[in-house]
Amino acid sequence: MHIHKRVLVTGGAGFLGSWLCERLLERGCMVLCLDNYFTGSRMNVEHLLDNKHFEIMRHDVTFPLFVEVDEIYNLACPASPIHYQHDPVQTTKTSVHGAINMLGLAKRTRAKIMQASTSEVYGNPTVHPQPESYWGNVNPTGPRSCYDEGKRCAETLFFDYHRQHKLRIKVARIFNTYGPRMHPNDGRVVSNFIVQALLGRPITIYGDGSQTRSFCYVEDLIDGFLRLMDSPDEFTGPVNLGNPGEFTIKELAEKVVAMTGSASEIVYKPLPKDDPERRRPDISLAKQRLGWEPRVKLEDGLVKTVDFFEHLIKKFGPAGILG
Ligand code: NAD
Ligand code: UDP
Ligand code: UDP
Repeated sequence: MHIHKRVLVTGGAGFLGSWLCERLLERGCMVLCLDNYFTGSRMNVEHLLDNKHFEIMRHDVTFPLFVEVDEIYNLACPASPIHYQHDPVQTTKTSVHGAINMLGLAKRTRAKIMQASTSEVYGNPTVHPQPESYWGNVNPTGPRSCYDEGKRCAETLFFDYHRQHKLRIKVARIFNTYGPRMHPNDGRVVSNFIVQALLGRPITIYGDGSQTRSFCYVEDLIDGFLRLMDSPDEFTGPVNLGNPGEFTIKELAEKVVAMTGSASEIVYKPLPKDDPERRRPDISLAKQRLGWEPRVKLEDGLVKTVDFFEHLIKKFGPAGILG
């Protein structure tokens, strides 16, 4: 029996992972943060390095890992289209081989394990908003497939290990999440628009900006992760975690411009292939089973995110953050 729960966070040096590590330490857990630093960095967890309950390890989840833990949060995987399309074969390997290894680890240690899945399993949805019972509309051979199908296969593996080996699993389908420690240059819409606005550069809307997304503030999402992990064993999910507020990309651009008082103009660029037209979570299940719903309004979350990027630009300069 261990006084402190031993928790493994894969992808722990990334955007969501770093927030999760922080919250777990606050709860008195021993945290093993594992990352290969493909998109994450030690800087994201710099403030945790002195904590004696925090340990960081460079490792790639596509290789086996032998450690002793009580809980595993499997977050390792590049999340933005630019990053996951950079080396698509590695993206599929990370999702699939990574899931197999972490499930093998959970099987040996009898640890409870949560998978960071995604709204991308719904593809370009024909049902709106998306409930967990919807099976999705996914292109298996397109540029987004390495991510979408990799994550779908990981869900399959989680449910097969659950049925076949009686593993305690949790599957969270995460919708677009934003907040401090997002990468300034990973091409995601919130970080792009804020950085462009702060630097007075044109705001790039892809397509006509009528496509919609729902944006969840990171602290709300992490609260959902913790509630899911703590939920009774019979509740496996999959469960949607996201903010049901739905905005067009054009509305988001206008909000960011207004909020930053930016002089940036809005420019229109071609819409990337297979870009989903609409996305909004149906979060009835999370409300009912986890008592969870987001609390932070888009405007409030954006203020904190703008603040973060302002500091980053002051510290490293435009060239420093955009590489
Ligand atoms: P991120 O890119 O900041 O974090 C991913 C982390 O995983 C990085 O630190 C990266 O270095 C690490 N990583 C990648 N491949 C690895 C490997 N093979 N071995 C070990 N570490 C590896 O992205 P994020 O936004 O923090 O996303 C975390 C998880 O949540 C991902 O699994 C992502 O698919 C999922 N997710 C995120 C969002 C979102 O809006 N942020 C939405 C849906 C799903
Ligand atoms: N694995 C791991 N750590 C462990 C146990 C297993 O990384 O503590 C890996 C192991 O290398 C294997 C994978 O997880 O490839 C799946 O394990 P499982 O026991 O399900 O399969 P098997 O070893 O029977 O192929
Ligand atoms: N987008 C945009 N301008 C940008 C970056 C993204 O108009 O500079 C659009 C993108 O085409 C998509 C939406 O914003 O319709 C969300 O994109 P993101 O890459 O953040 O996430 P995802 O498509 O995975 O939801």
